[in-house]
Amino acid sequence: MPSDFVIVYHRQPYEEVEENGKTVFRENSSPNGIVPTLKSFFGKADSGAWVAWKLAEDTSNPDFERVVEINDAYGTYTVSRLPLTEEQVKSFYHISSKEAFWPILHSFKEKYNYDPVDWPTFREVNWAFAEAAANEASPGARVWVHDYNLWLVPGYLRQMRPDVTISFFHHTPFPAADMFNVLPWRKEIVESLLSCDVVGFHIPRYAANFLSVARSLFDVSVLEREAVDEDLISEGTALSERSAPTLISYKDRAVAISSSAVGVAVDFIESRATDPKVRTKADKIREDMGDSKLILSIGRTDYTKGGIEQLESFERVLEANPDLRGKVRLMHVSVSANRNMTAYEDTQSGIEETAGRINGQFGTLEWQPVALISRAIPFDDLIKYYLAADVAWITPLADGMNLVCKEFVSARTDEDGVLVLSEFAGAAVELSSAVITNPFSYRSMDSAILQALNMGPEERRERMTALRRVVKRFSVEAWGASQDAAFDAAAKRRAEIAKSSAA
Ligand code: UDP
Repeated sequence: MPSDFVIVYHRQPYEEVEENGKTVFRENSSPNGIVPTLKSFFGKADSGAWVAWKLAEDTSNPDFERVVEINDAYGTYTVSRLPLTEEQVKSFYHISSKEAFWPILHSFKEKYNYDPVDWPTFREVNWAFAEAAANEASPGARVWVHDYNLWLVPGYLRQMRPDVTISFFHHTPFPAADMFNVLPWRKEIVESLLSCDVVGFHIPRYAANFLSVARSLFDVSVLEREAVDEDLISEGTALSERSAPTLISYKDRAVAISSSAVGVAVDFIESRATDPKVRTKADKIREDMGDSKLILSIGRTDYTKGGIEQLESFERVLEANPDLRGKVRLMHVSVSANRNMTAYEDTQSGIEETAGRINGQFGTLEWQPVALISRAIPFDDLIKYYLAADVAWITPLADGMNLVCKEFVSARTDEDGVLVLSEFAGAAVELSSAVITNPFSYRSMDSAILQALNMGPEERRERMTALRRVVKRFSVEAWGASQDAAFDAAAKRRAEIAKSSAA
């Protein structure tokens, strides 16, 4: 059955597990993360479809189930699985996306690796996604495409299906023209994005940057620009903007530009954080810490997350403040990507070396300054650390949004705990009551963590109360509602244009 709402996202919306020799589809065990919000859109549609990829040894295997029907708490929807070979996945995802696009999106020109990119494969995979979406979409359907590894999908889909409303959301930063135009495929990518009805970003700065890129390549004009909501201006910080483009035109088309930050499921996190069993576990961690303070740092092992730079700051702070030795511990969770890519391997070994050096230099039998954890901690367990921590130290060099800091704030129903946040995380524009730091400055990094460790209870409460207000306001549900509204406005614009051209 054709679907009136189609989501195109490289990940599948469920866990595929083997039970008694049979494959069963199980709903993602944690309601945390973005997938549940995306699926909640199916509740509003008459029929929904999801397009993702799935690794297949033999892509022509007739037993491969290309389209499966899923029935879960969100209703019944179909999932089209594109069979991709290991080679295709490596080329499209691990190489083109992660080695070429990712560094540029995060403004790391020096990490950009052009040579291994196989552009025809990138096109081919994107074409397959577009074709699957075109097959699923009913006349006039809404199609929601996610993230940079599917940049060419809107352009192809528009050729196949001029009738559908297309919205594209970027989950990463988006750089200005000086950086983006390093990509030799820039025109093809941006032309594809300009065939959308809505192009979405987390924050106004990324929208402004997109406009700068589009203007550098095409004759694009701004039809509407709006003042940025006061809650999204963190005065004087690196990523704040005071106004943002909301509607631009290219050729005979209007393209809405939306800035809306992905949030977290605040109610769910609060309910976990107030569960007496979780509280007891958090209390036990605190008890074991004695009178030492716990600093928590959580991220993926990625050069963009600034793990090495943060550990170096901790080293300097321990060096300069002997009174802190034995009195503070850093739990540094850096989940390794296991992608066998040199860039990630270097980051992993840099983190291990620096943590080892700190422990070797300052540690004693009773006290290890850094607890380094490289494996992923299940979300439920993370909450107890969020609750037990004195400080969450989140200092990426570049980060599209950063959800860990919002989860920490959501968990702190006790209105205590200090958030130290990099001004280069998209989340910093809303979390202006955090201790905002610049991870490229030694002085700023070191003084921010000292300020957090020394902060009195009254200031902690004041800041956390303010943080909790905005995190609640910009929850993941609020993000979903804003995306829905952008679709409605775009569909209305299309209907008006169709009406006036028929008249
Ligand atoms: N996360 C987790 N276990 C870990 C580390 C991280 O479940 O050990 C989750 C974390 O709760 C958050 C997500 O992974 O929901 C990371 O999202 P974020 O936006 O902060 O960073 P990303 O990895 O998407 O760049």
